[in-house]
Amino acid sequence: MRLVIKVGTSTLAHSTGKLNIRRVEELCKVLSDLKNAGHEIVLVSSGAIGMGVGKLNLAARPDDMPTKQAAAAVGQCELMYVYDKLFSGYGHVVAQILITGDDIEDSGRRGHFVNTMERLLSLGALPVINENDTVATAEISVGDNDTLAAIVAANVGADLLILLTDIDGLYSADPKRDCSAHLIEEVEDVTDEIISLAGGAGSALGTGGMATKIHAAGLCTRAGIDMIIANGSNPSILYDLIEGRGVCTRFRGVKR
Ligand code: GLU
Repeated sequence: MRLVIKVGTSTLAHSTGKLNIRRVEELCKVLSDLKNAGHEIVLVSSGAIGMGVGKLNLAARPDDMPTKQAAAAVGQCELMYVYDKLFSGYGHVVAQILITGDDIEDSGRRGHFVNTMERLLSLGALPVINENDTVATAEISVGDNDTLAAIVAANVGADLLILLTDIDGLYSADPKRDCSAHLIEEVEDVTDEIISLAGGAGSALGTGGMATKIHAAGLCTRAGIDMIIANGSNPSILYDLIEGRGVCTRFRGVKR
């Protein structure tokens, strides 16, 4: 299978902005094993800004553009250093790809992106994609990595997109406030009702939240690709998810 897996800042870093070492080591081990089993893996990884915040010892995630971009520049190095070190340990080669909304909207540039991705995958490399936050201002950015991951999945013709986050999936109500809330295991159609369940809110260090994930589900399923939202706290869940099992919300790609 060609799998696009997106990990959010809440999965990769502690609330301090420092790396969650145990989690990231486990994630790289499972992804390496899936690659060894013959799957093609594309990783869409957030965490640049969050990790920059940790590395620069900033008190909180910055609001202003220059500090955000500076934090991303510092954090992206840290992120790739960690991935390179861990994946190399399992004999895999990582490739860094940083893109913005502009790169996707322009058909010529999108073509180059897709060609490079195909070549990297045929060479056996593991592309690690993030938004190019250091140059992406509001006008040209995709804005969140859930949407970016759906765009990537559609452009590389993925079989499945998995968004790993800090909750088991989409709930019928906010499980932190409503004890009758239950996990929605399967979504056939991203209707207005489903969109209304998403609410807002992300974590203190990341950008997303459920709203961007449901938006991503719309893009992905319309491109005919299945998408899953699952909890990244135990990366071994990936083994079950790709076999159609495991606790998650599964969105069915529209059949054509
Ligand atoms: N590109 C951002 C980062 O690496 C994350 C965006 C997101 O969390 O959706 O920090």
